[in-house]
Amino acid sequence: MREERNQERLSRKEAAANTWRAVKIWRKAAPELFLSMVVGSAVSRLAPYVPLYFTAQLINEIAGGRDPQRVWALLVALLGASAASGLLAQGAMRWSNVITDVKAGNVFDKIVLEKLLSMDYCHIDDPSTGELLNRIKHDRYWSAWGLDKVYFSLRYMLQHIFTILGAAALSVSLFLLPVPGGRSLVWLNHPACSLGMVVLLVLTVLLSSLLFNKGTSYWARYDGAKGNREFGFFYFAAHVERFRGADIRTYEQDAFIREKVLRLGQLGDFAPKSEIGRDARGEMGLYIAASEAVSRAFTGVIYLYVGLKDLGGAFGIGSVTQYVGALAGLASGVSGLLKELGGLRENAEYLRTTYQFLDIPNSMYQGSLTTEKRNDRKYEIEFRDVSFQYPGTDVWALRSLNVKFQVGGRLAVVGENGSGKTTFIKLLCRLYDPTEGTILLNGIDIRKYRYDDYLALFSVVFQDFRLLAQPLGQNVAASEKYDRQRAEDCLEKAGFGPQLRNLPEGLDTCLYREFEDNGVEISGGEAQKIALARVLYRDAPFIVLDEPTAALDPEAEAEIYTKFDEIVTDKTAIYISHRLSSCRFCDEIAVFENGRVVQQGTHDNLLAQEGKYSSLWTAQAQYYQKKGEEDGEEF
Ligand code: ADP
Repeated sequence: MREERNQERLSRKEAAANTWRAVKIWRKAAPELFLSMVVGSAVSRLAPYVPLYFTAQLINEIAGGRDPQRVWALLVALLGASAASGLLAQGAMRWSNVITDVKAGNVFDKIVLEKLLSMDYCHIDDPSTGELLNRIKHDRYWSAWGLDKVYFSLRYMLQHIFTILGAAALSVSLFLLPVPGGRSLVWLNHPACSLGMVVLLVLTVLLSSLLFNKGTSYWARYDGAKGNREFGFFYFAAHVERFRGADIRTYEQDAFIREKVLRLGQLGDFAPKSEIGRDARGEMGLYIAASEAVSRAFTGVIYLYVGLKDLGGAFGIGSVTQYVGALAGLASGVSGLLKELGGLRENAEYLRTTYQFLDIPNSMYQGSLTTEKRNDRKYEIEFRDVSFQYPGTDVWALRSLNVKFQVGGRLAVVGENGSGKTTFIKLLCRLYDPTEGTILLNGIDIRKYRYDDYLALFSVVFQDFRLLAQPLGQNVAASEKYDRQRAEDCLEKAGFGPQLRNLPEGLDTCLYREFEDNGVEISGGEAQKIALARVLYRDAPFIVLDEPTAALDPEAEAEIYTKFDEIVTDKTAIYISHRLSSCRFCDEIAVFENGRVVQQGTHDNLLAQEGKYSSLWTAQAQYYQKKGEEDGEEF
């Protein structure tokens, strides 16, 4: 349960640097927050002192001079000032809260989104990036640790500072007003006495805050996110999707869930016997209780000091309220400030994880050549001795690959699962750079081209492509604004025409029901066709289809083949499949095995040779024949 970050604790200087960097991130992301923070804190924290001051004056007058006119004037002033300052304080706080909700609420998400959108793909694909992001989110949900904490702490610190300023202004006269001469309490006038009081104030506040910070620092050691997740998982079991109501009933999971909930209550991360429970009863609880005791004892000393000065006649009885209120405010302001500073010190450790994520470098070299948007689409791609290992592994996913293809051709990439076909495509589309060797476009290393320019040459349907829960037309165009006629034509070509005509709102029909009640749920085959339409809409010179027919029924698959030439036209098509029968129509077939191209040629050529292709073909033919006989079909 103790957090295992395996990292040394930051020095104070490093912690301060981490926090300062977060402040700069906030300032850049939402500069207007700082103004609202200052104004909101100043008004809301200074306002309560106004009635305190007038109350003291009023009581002094009632207990002292008793001039009815002055009493009335003070009463009116008190009421007016209370109403006005209260209104102002509420208004300022509300304004500041609204700005916080609107502006600060999604700053974290925006920063993370921006980073993810601009990150080199190899880091997105890297599991450690996901783990880092999960860690950051857990810390955030657990106790707002990380970037959020800095904003909220700054806000609270400003509020404490204004509390201190107001309190100091109202309590300064306590130390300056002397007990009149001749009285027994004149020793209170001695500067050492006032100084002693101030020193005592500072020391007790420091001690109380230190004890409190020590107590609360225990929280930073727990990974409460796991406890929260477990709690949510089982307590909300009956109404979240992770547990299906039907499963709960058919497997009698109700007893299982009840037992888990009972066990969580007894042994979970927040149970009395857990580490948090033990610490709360033990050291952590003691530190926090001691901090409270010190601050209460200090309140007693304030009362004594103020009371004695009043007894000595230094000021009227009304001022007692003022001084006690102001000094209590001063103490709470200073200790609040120190607590926030302590919290920021702990938070700096969490910020380290945030920065590890934000500082993931974009190391892919970006060239400056343009790919010349050629009308004749004369492009030639060559893999020259390309080898590749996925980052963090020492296995060659591709080894010494030499492949060349020109625009207009139909290249099939076949091979068993895990033979490197998808990796080949990822390299071709420059999602990764080769570990060894070069990929050339028209004889020039693809790294020398502008990245966006190069990517624009490809339209890909990956095996695990995703469509968005957005209108159909926007999915096809991958954009909000698009050419409707073109989108319809592309859907028609991809074989989605009949379904499109049946959709209630045509291109505006939302896919899936995540956001729209009248969205449509589509089958895997329909999704494939829409993905194919997206490829066509993009109109890039290279079309890459990774197992495009895997989710299609035989009829739809046949439909795509017969239309393939019409779909691909003069573009280059690279067609990946482990089903050899799907690739017969291609001009050239590259056979992958263990990351290498072991054979290359036309279907007839390859079949005539002894080798991987013919053995795969025979094995698959037998399977399909058998299946065909069972289904009453011919292979
Ligand atoms: P295919 O498309 O032919 O099924 P892949 O190109 O997906 O094969 O995989 C080739 C090899 O690379 C396999 O051994 C696979 O386990 C490995 N591999 C694929 N993706 C990753 C990844 N993101 N990280 C590490 N290894 C991977």
